[in-house]
Amino acid sequence: MSQRKVEEGFRILTLEANVDREVIEFIRQYQVLASHLYWAKRLGIQPSDAVMQRVKEGIKSYWRWQIINEKDPIYLFKGIEKTPMPYSVVLKLPLVDALHENKGAFIRDGKLVLRLNKKVEITIPPRALEWLNKRLAEKPDRKTVRVFERGGKLVAQIVLHKKNEVVPPKNPLLVVVDLNSSHGIVVHYWDGKLIKTEKYRPPNRAGGWITVKRLMEIRDNLYNQGCITQAQINKYSAIIRRTLSGSVKSWVQQTVDRIVMRVRRIARRHGKDPLVLIDIPDDEGLRGTRLQRTLLSFAKHLENILSWYGIYWEEKRLYSTICPNCGGKLRLRKATRRMRIMECPKCRFEGERDIIPLHWALKYLPAMNGEAS
Ligand SMILES: [Zn+2]
Repeated sequence: MSQRKVEEGFRILTLEANVDREVIEFIRQYQVLASHLYWAKRLGIQPSDAVMQRVKEGIKSYWRWQIINEKDPIYLFKGIEKTPMPYSVVLKLPLVDALHENKGAFIRDGKLVLRLNKKVEITIPPRALEWLNKRLAEKPDRKTVRVFERGGKLVAQIVLHKKNEVVPPKNPLLVVVDLNSSHGIVVHYWDGKLIKTEKYRPPNRAGGWITVKRLMEIRDNLYNQGCITQAQINKYSAIIRRTLSGSVKSWVQQTVDRIVMRVRRIARRHGKDPLVLIDIPDDEGLRGTRLQRTLLSFAKHLENILSWYGIYWEEKRLYSTICPNCGGKLRLRKATRRMRIMECPKCRFEGERDIIPLHWALKYLPAMNGEAS
């Protein structure tokens, strides 16, 4: 009884171009018409004849079916009666079509060609084109293009979509991604034994990270010794939040790409299928901080890329302060600059803090393959 599931991954290439006013005006007109159709659908009323007429006359069929034909595979308003959508999103409704020579958007000679109210060609930079060709070679199930306006510029996104049906592999290469560590992101690779542990830390935050790490240690120490109250713990959380700020989007993407590449390479070398367990951050000191947002977007991005490659993954709570043997609360026995040794006062289990999530992961493994543990 294995846990079969469908994973969906997306890869997106965003291009921007300066275009003349007519094109921008066309997109604005389209958005007005599409919004009308959106609200008509949303409120369960017939769209006005005048609007339908303008849709038919003003928008080429490539971009039209997606807002009027519910059977179209990329129909824009699927299930909107049930899902609330913020108004700002509605006003930015993109033009959507499949990426194909017979459609409203296609690639020719390194350019994205759009058939809007007039033909628009956007040169794809060489590195982006190389990236795109690699992704296309990985055989996406669906290729679409969406077009909208941002700050007076034309934005076109090529969206590639891939669906994979996966089961947890038996006897896998186990990969544990711990986003909860005060070191940043820790990745363990396990194949019967620990092959490798890698640590990644968001950039420009080094000072903040060290301070936060120290604050968390002090807080946990005081808590373990029963020296501070809940109100005082909350004060530490507030200080931790204030210590952190900054934006790290490209770091997230690059690090995720690097980790997924490594997962696939190590799995190949070991002749195994990888199984990735991801621990999502849940420290109250991090709640609402930019660091937590970074870690969450990291997890989302990682899950997306793993899904694209059909690598089985699951989110699991992998504790670092609860004993994997008996469930007792671990306490810090020894801390040096490089490591923290935790021990269980009940069963005498002992381990380096960063390794404890791996013990938890190994505990989950048999159950994931449908075996009784
Ligand atoms: Zn124990």
